[in-house]
Amino acid sequence: MKKLKSTKEVHIKEILRLLDEEYGTDDRCFLLYEKPYELLFATIMSAQCTDDRVNLVTGTLYKKYTSLEAFAEADLGELEKDIHSVGFYHMKAKHIIEAAKMLIREYGGEMPEDIDELTKLPGVGRKTANVVRGHIFNTPSIVVDTHVKRTAFRLGMTDETDPVRVEFDLMKKLPEDHWTLINLQLIRLGREICHSRKPLCEGCFLASECMKRL
Ligand code: SF4
Repeated sequence: MKKLKSTKEVHIKEILRLLDEEYGTDDRCFLLYEKPYELLFATIMSAQCTDDRVNLVTGTLYKKYTSLEAFAEADLGELEKDIHSVGFYHMKAKHIIEAAKMLIREYGGEMPEDIDELTKLPGVGRKTANVVRGHIFNTPSIVVDTHVKRTAFRLGMTDETDPVRVEFDLMKKLPEDHWTLINLQLIRLGREICHSRKPLCEGCFLASECMKRL
């Protein structure tokens, strides 16, 4: 006999269908990069900063520092000035130089794929590591940032609020082909409609499926 699907499965499936319809299924990263380490550093810089601002800064930065070695040998004060406008520039510049040194020293200049290895790099938590895994290695990875955390909870996709718990919960509930994509879709939802202070529920394309846990 065919197993009946639970309400939650149906509910999430319908939300994914609507997200695909509205935002498409292109899972290209919003941050611009060519080399793997450039995505890593852009992601480090993107904490508490917009992707547009980071892209503006990296557009110049990656022309000035053209190799991992160049970042490893960078002068801290000068790099701070170069990335000043992304905010928290002292800590971010320090992490970038230290991460570049560690990639050269421990990994022969290559990007590790393993999440435990990635999170050993300075300034790299699960969120940044999952961005790298999803976009560099095409390993299905769920990146939980502030938009994903907020919107997934409001929609009723998860009951968790801690980012790591949200990540593991969504891994259980979502099909793998949506693991990398869900971050990009929920970021757009959070930026354009489901704002943290004033969500535009009226007219939202997900209103019929949303638990609206505001
Ligand atoms: S209906 Fe409201 S709470 Fe639900 S996703 Fe849309 S804007 Fe957010």
